[in-house]
Amino acid sequence: MEFIRESAGWLYLVGAILFILTLRGLSSPKTAIRGNTYGMVAMAIAVVTTFFVVDHVVVWLILAPMALGAVVGIARARTVPMTQMPETVALMHSLVGLSAVLIAVAAILHNNHLVALFSENAAALQQAGVEQTHMSKVHFFELFVGCFVGAITFTASLFAYGKLAAKKWAKTIAGGWVKPLQAVLFIVMLGCGAYFFTSGNMTAFWLMTIFALAFGWVWIAPVGGGDMPVVVSLLNSFSGWAAAGIGFTLENNMLIVAGSLVGSSGAILSYIMCKAMNRSIINVLFGGAMAGGAAVATSGAQVERNHRSGSADDAGFLMSNADSVVIVPGYGMAQGRAQNAVKELSTVLKEQGVKVRFAIHPVAGRMPGHMNVLLAEADVPYDDILEMDEINSDFPATDVVLVIGANDVVNPGAKDNPGSPIYGMPILEAYKARTIMVIKRSMATGYAGLDNDLFYNEKTMMIFGDAKKVVEDMTKSINGSGH
Ligand code: NDP
Repeated sequence: MEFIRESAGWLYLVGAILFILTLRGLSSPKTAIRGNTYGMVAMAIAVVTTFFVVDHVVVWLILAPMALGAVVGIARARTVPMTQMPETVALMHSLVGLSAVLIAVAAILHNNHLVALFSENAAALQQAGVEQTHMSKVHFFELFVGCFVGAITFTASLFAYGKLAAKKWAKTIAGGWVKPLQAVLFIVMLGCGAYFFTSGNMTAFWLMTIFALAFGWVWIAPVGGGDMPVVVSLLNSFSGWAAAGIGFTLENNMLIVAGSLVGSSGAILSYIMCKAMNRSIINVLFGGAMAGGAAVATSGAQVERNHRSGSADDAGFLMSNADSVVIVPGYGMAQGRAQNAVKELSTVLKEQGVKVRFAIHPVAGRMPGHMNVLLAEADVPYDDILEMDEINSDFPATDVVLVIGANDVVNPGAKDNPGSPIYGMPILEAYKARTIMVIKRSMATGYAGLDNDLFYNEKTMMIFGDAKKVVEDMTKSINGSGH
């Protein structure tokens, strides 16, 4: 046991290296399982080592909540449908934020009696050679940052959860009063924090926490549903920074390193997603609601326009006679749990000598990597899956593009309609293919609440129905036709 305590620094270093390898592994579906394994080993090292580096550990007080968390976590992981992952992730971030606040509060309460000592007698104590109490100015600062970043993360993530889960209480707010309110809350929060920092006044600390909680909510509530993916990934980053701040307070190097890794990787992911949506972070967070989004989406197409529709049989015939087919999956494939049926269709087409590939938009579905996860689950070969930048130039030479439950990510309005709220967002250029087929249940809008010109394109055939059923019918038709 003494050995673990003495080697804690080294063990933490091993853990930190494994966490870095985890991120590296998770950057590709091929190495993701290995990456996850590294992460589990790193976390086990971190948890076990921490038991030995802390004095006076009340073991059951740590094990009991860990066991409770494990039971809830395992149950949730087993039952959560893939389509509810984004809101689950947002909820988990809120818990990291809440932990940061509670740790800061505990650290403050535990050391409360030292505050007076620190501010009035610290210098005298030092002169007299009395060991300095550990509540230093630096600790105040760490608590201040860890607590308010944690509080903002908590309420903002809670709101993001409510918004993604379409809860009634998570309403988008709009109006000229929102920005001044945000500014007032932010300034008062910082003011209270600064007062706490200089004086150690506990009332200022509590007020700072309350204002940070309110600011988190009011800050994210105006953000439109279409921008929520970026917000969730940014809050992921925040939860990491909050953890790192608390790591300084607890003098735990592992927490500092792991928190910083989460913080920086979340920030990088937010940047990549903003680029994919052609938005700047500032614009997402302070530009107000992007028109549309789950909470403000309009229902269905407003103006009657002509579209062409066909059957699964028609589509099966056309695809089996094509040289190349590109499949564009979207949220509807996840919603309809159609990934295995889609894999089956692609296999059957390949057997007919058709070149089949999958095109993935970075924000297709409801979470980063959503489509990749589903296609990996269905054992679609990684080499058949192409990112937007890799496939876009191939669309003009593609015989058939089959859009399965995707809408916003193939909306040409993003390219040619400057009035569109998603104008400038890069899309999968499916409209350039020779023939376009779209599977969805109706002419209803997607997540951003926008009509889609692709559905009215003269090259487009709509095939109405549930994704899984339609795709299965297509496969049956191709198999039955004996092409
Ligand atoms: P969309 O939400 O734009 O469109 C999905 C389409 O799927 C709908 O139009 C719906 O039409 C159809 N659909 C739903 N269920 C089924 C079903 N069972 N069978 C067949 N069709 C179905 O999805 P996209 O993937 O194109 O775009 C993603 C959107 O989500 C973007 O706006 C993105 O910004 C946003 N977003 C992305 C996140 C991410 O991280 N990836 C997170 C949060 C939001 P119908 O009802 O007629 O069937």
